[in-house]
Amino acid sequence: MYKQTVSPVMHTYGRFPITLVEGKGSYVWDDQGTKYLDFSSGIATCNLGHVPDVVEHAVQEQLSKLWHCSNLYHIPSQEKLAQALTENSCGDQVFFCNSGAEANEAAIKIAKKYGHDILQQDNPLIITFNNSFHGRTMATLSATGQKKIQDGFTPLTPGFAYLPFNEDESLDALVKQKPAAVLVELVQGEGGVIPADPVWVSKLSAICKEHDILLMIDEIQTGMGRTGKLFAYQHYGIEPDVISVAKGLGSGLPIGAIIAKEHVARVFTPGTHGSTFGGNPIVTTAGLATVNHLTQTDILDEANQIADYLWNELQHLAEDKKDVKSVRGKGLLIGLEVDGKAIDYVNKAREEHHLLIVVAGPHIVRLLPPLTANQEEAEKFIAIMNKIFS
Ligand SMILES: *Cc1c(COP(=O)(O)O)cnc(C)c1O
Repeated sequence: MYKQTVSPVMHTYGRFPITLVEGKGSYVWDDQGTKYLDFSSGIATCNLGHVPDVVEHAVQEQLSKLWHCSNLYHIPSQEKLAQALTENSCGDQVFFCNSGAEANEAAIKIAKKYGHDILQQDNPLIITFNNSFHGRTMATLSATGQKKIQDGFTPLTPGFAYLPFNEDESLDALVKQKPAAVLVELVQGEGGVIPADPVWVSKLSAICKEHDILLMIDEIQTGMGRTGKLFAYQHYGIEPDVISVAKGLGSGLPIGAIIAKEHVARVFTPGTHGSTFGGNPIVTTAGLATVNHLTQTDILDEANQIADYLWNELQHLAEDKKDVKSVRGKGLLIGLEVDGKAIDYVNKAREEHHLLIVVAGPHIVRLLPPLTANQEEAEKFIAIMNKIFS
């Protein structure tokens, strides 16, 4: 039988033609020994750089003790990570799962349960926003406000309605629709690196409080220091009821979570939600080392200094180069609006300058440096950006 003419891996990704085999800090190496400056961070996941010592050592130690025991038993690293996440956020209790989509699934389920149990609604509705991205499972792609993510996958999961992002008209519509919850990103990541307007967010938050609507923030991309604070909501002076996290939480090991306020967390009673792997000893050890590093060292201050330098230089780039129309985002989640196809610049950066960056939509180049990038790496990156744009 001739079977090996195509890859045995399903073709769900358009992959770049390189094979990465090793990484440390801001650099990765391919199977040919070529070294790349990685300002994609595994899509906002390796926030402490590749194979960070603090996480590596903690995980190495745990690897020789216990890998998995299921959630039928207490798991010390899970308790400690939950403690670290609640001490450093407005949330009170944490549910652990394995990915971003699963974190949003948990958020969607807890909102529906809250709608039924507390708000006495028969069909709790969740409002999301146009151009958002919340994941690829059936419920999370249904929550996602982008047709291209949903195409081919109807019938969608019911119970979602979509409103325009950053628009005041959405706030009036929200009150009329009486939803159980709102799920929103504070910088739309996959949707093109679009920050939420602070005035709009405070109005949204006030309306949610006034009308007993849960405010759920998808911090899967913006969390874990990516925007300059541990969570992006902390820039906005709001207190969400539910926060979903994943990407940067395990420094590259697969973990997701929701952090909820007590009055919401309470509706997840025994047997209402669960996950076999969720919060297992290995990934929560990685998560704990990651969160401790972000909250107990100067890393965020240092990342903010690098971010200031990069923003300044990138503004100059936008002024000097006709290919670059604008710079947007927050902290080290940065989008460049470009003339022409974003993917062409991404390919040029990789092929000609061994720099890894990604796209966020057809005309947005997305820059996701590790929070640990140093001045020398930042300068090297800016020099390359000056070469790829004209
Ligand atoms: C990546 C992402 C998700 C989905 O996370 P997965 O781990 O890929 O399931 C959801 N929401 C946002 C904002 C994301 O950036």
